[in-house]
Amino acid sequence: MAVPVRQGARMGWYLMRQRLAKREKFPLIVELEPLFQCNLECAGCGKIQHPEHVLRRRMSVADAVGAIEECGAPMVSIAGGEPLIHPEIHVIAAELVKRKRFVYLCTNALLLERKLANFTPSPYFAWAVHMDGLRERHDASVEREGTFDKAVAAIRAAKAAGFRVTTNTTFFTHDSPKTVREVLDYLNDDLQVDEMMISPAYAYEKAPDQEHFLGVAQTRKLFGEAFADGRRKRWRLNHSPLFLDFLEGKAEFECTAWGIPSYSLFGWQRPCYLMSDGYAATYKELIETTDWSSYGRGRDPRCENCMAHCGYEPTAVLQTTHSLRQSLRALAG
Ligand code: SF4
Ligand code: SF4
Repeated sequence: MAVPVRQGARMGWYLMRQRLAKREKFPLIVELEPLFQCNLECAGCGKIQHPEHVLRRRMSVADAVGAIEECGAPMVSIAGGEPLIHPEIHVIAAELVKRKRFVYLCTNALLLERKLANFTPSPYFAWAVHMDGLRERHDASVEREGTFDKAVAAIRAAKAAGFRVTTNTTFFTHDSPKTVREVLDYLNDDLQVDEMMISPAYAYEKAPDQEHFLGVAQTRKLFGEAFADGRRKRWRLNHSPLFLDFLEGKAEFECTAWGIPSYSLFGWQRPCYLMSDGYAATYKELIETTDWSSYGRGRDPRCENCMAHCGYEPTAVLQTTHSLRQSLRALAG
């Protein structure tokens, strides 16, 4: 996993502590959703369909910090909606950084340059900018022209100000191995972002566009061809090698969605941030009252096409730590 040494060491220590404590289920990253409102309306989005009174709600700083402290996760991915719309998002991020949690703030970057001065560069903080492709492809994906150029300008400004900047790219059926390579080459070599995350789009039931989600066979073909010729090693991908093997169809895992749980305005979402089978008030309650064995491919039809990191990256990370060979492979990047 291409992460800074401090973060890698902290994660290794955290995982060892869980094993010593014989804890079977524990969080690696929390998907924190402090609001659902966004300043874009992407056709593949499953988050912005809530009624207006829900879209207007904002999570309090105390609620956000309390949830992370209760579950003990070492990493937090702040998403939404668009987090930068939240008037206290910089306070939430700063409070989590103060508690030595590694924070990724996911954003479409439209407000990033305007809000940059509210944030302080830290080894515990990184931007995760939504970039679904090169200019034409990204602007079509988010359904607004000019968004790509704004995101690129914001990434450059954040890097110039000393921030760690990562990106998050979702792929759909209109992508090809060529477009995957082009966008990763651009982010890696031209923009020189610190790390890149990739994901096949999850088929949200509520998303307006239901035609362009990738199935499992399509996902494996897409990434298998895009990663061919050893190319995947030259990109700074922020994933474990085993998870990338999984995307390519070289490894098969069970879903361990308890490893990347989601906390939103409604509580802890069951079983993951992609699907909603109700909510729990605490992470402990989520773990103890969810039938985890009923989720994953072959168990729930809604999981059939899912290869998302929130279900399968924890499995890959846990398998990595159980294997010396895989641990060395992950360290080699
Ligand atoms: S930017 Fe993200 S949260 Fe906003 S509409 Fe698009 S996918 Fe949804
Ligand atoms: S396979 Fe796992 S991560 Fe994917 S939708 Fe189902 S429960 Fe969520």
